[in-house]
Amino acid sequence: MRYNPASKKAEEFINNEEILSTIEYAKANKDNKELISSLINKAKDCKGLTHREAAVLLECEIEEENEKMFALAKEIKQKLYGNRIVMFAPLYLSNYCVNGCVYCPYHHQNKHISRKKLTQDEIAREVRALQDMGHKRLALETGEDPINNPIDYVLESINTIYSIHHKNGAIRRVNVNIAATTVENYRKLKEVGIGTYILFQETYHKENYEMLHPTGPKHDYAYHTEAMDRAMEAGIDDVGIGVLFGLNLYRYDFIGLLMHAEHLEAAFGVGPHTISVPRIRPADDIDPDNFTNAINDDIFAKIVAVLRIAVPYTGMIISTRETEETRRRVLDLGISQISGGSCTSVGGYAEKEAEEDNSAQFELNDTRTLDQIVNWLLAMDYIPSFCTACYREGRTGDRFMTLVKAGQIANCCLPNALMTLKEYLEDYASEDTKLKGEALISKEINNITNEKVRSIAKEYLGELHNGKRDFRF
Ligand code: SF4
Ligand code: SF4
Repeated sequence: MRYNPASKKAEEFINNEEILSTIEYAKANKDNKELISSLINKAKDCKGLTHREAAVLLECEIEEENEKMFALAKEIKQKLYGNRIVMFAPLYLSNYCVNGCVYCPYHHQNKHISRKKLTQDEIAREVRALQDMGHKRLALETGEDPINNPIDYVLESINTIYSIHHKNGAIRRVNVNIAATTVENYRKLKEVGIGTYILFQETYHKENYEMLHPTGPKHDYAYHTEAMDRAMEAGIDDVGIGVLFGLNLYRYDFIGLLMHAEHLEAAFGVGPHTISVPRIRPADDIDPDNFTNAINDDIFAKIVAVLRIAVPYTGMIISTRETEETRRRVLDLGISQISGGSCTSVGGYAEKEAEEDNSAQFELNDTRTLDQIVNWLLAMDYIPSFCTACYREGRTGDRFMTLVKAGQIANCCLPNALMTLKEYLEDYASEDTKLKGEALISKEINNITNEKVRSIAKEYLGELHNGKRDFRF
């Protein structure tokens, strides 16, 4: 197999030989101060790095250069994303699954997990509960099961979610994380108005991938790896990629992730909208000791920092799998979206989970409520943002990337963050969160550089206080 980033064949754009030789190259250059320093300088103009260049930075063992790298990641984060953090919540529809993924409790051989699939009424209840928390953006999750969770069920569920308007609530963007499927099904998802299509590769290492997915349709490495190509062919232009760190050697998957991003850029002219960085977590019927490739917090922080440098315009997502402390550490290194107040069981938002309920996909490390997380972010001077404007304004795919690369999106992000935070404060926040949030808005409104936008934003903030909702730039 020959390495070709523009090829539509999985084993050509995620090429094993190229990854192995990149690992060797990075190891051989781990003390090459001159090269490392030149790569850090090159990355300063926010044009990103290749997978080979990024691999060298990840491998670097020179303390001083590593510090420069972390500083640059923070600088890029601040320049492109400011102190805004976009909030979302996962919504689990069904944990029926025909696959045999060895790291996930939903695998079909697991007989002691409760299987649940939400009805449309139950989905409406979950959505009302999520709206009552203040969420506007969801990531929809479901196992793969053509009988229990066919595409029509997913489509109907998305329509239900968008149709619920409880009090001042609304879900304005539904991102979808479902199994790899056909172009035709991706087209249906596009038509029903999804935001980002998210699919994690889990690992890019083919042999390990096949061992970790011994049964079910997910066993097919090429079909899974080429899923984003089919999604883009169907017109979905915001896609989110990710690996489950801890399943394979992290160097291999880190390089695979960047090669995947390069492939989408080469084949479709637009890279991934987001990259997620989950790490493996304990769960029912899963022994984490089996996963000896688990990565520690220091390596995890470095992965986040180097990704921020290598793909500056791709949003980065971290979930409640991580502890408060880890989340704090990686926020300023490059994370732009976090989940909050999450529940990873089916139907868990509306009903406090019964003791014996074991339908969760994995254990959470951050169990704080959304209000507590918003409060925590505000106390660190971050702006929690509930913005969903781009997708609703048709700013997706290459249109979005052009605006981002021209530095123009910041004119929208800051006022939108402040206005959606204001909505949250008016409708859902505790007293203390409200005080902190109002103080932050008063301070941050002056940082909107465009005078006209600033004055309109002030006017909208007043109208939000008077009960109007849903303004956006
Ligand atoms: Fe099913 Fe996804 Fe779990 Fe695999 S990871 S068993 S596909 S729910
Ligand atoms: Fe995201 Fe667009 Fe909102 Fe900025 S304006 S936070 S890029 S949706």
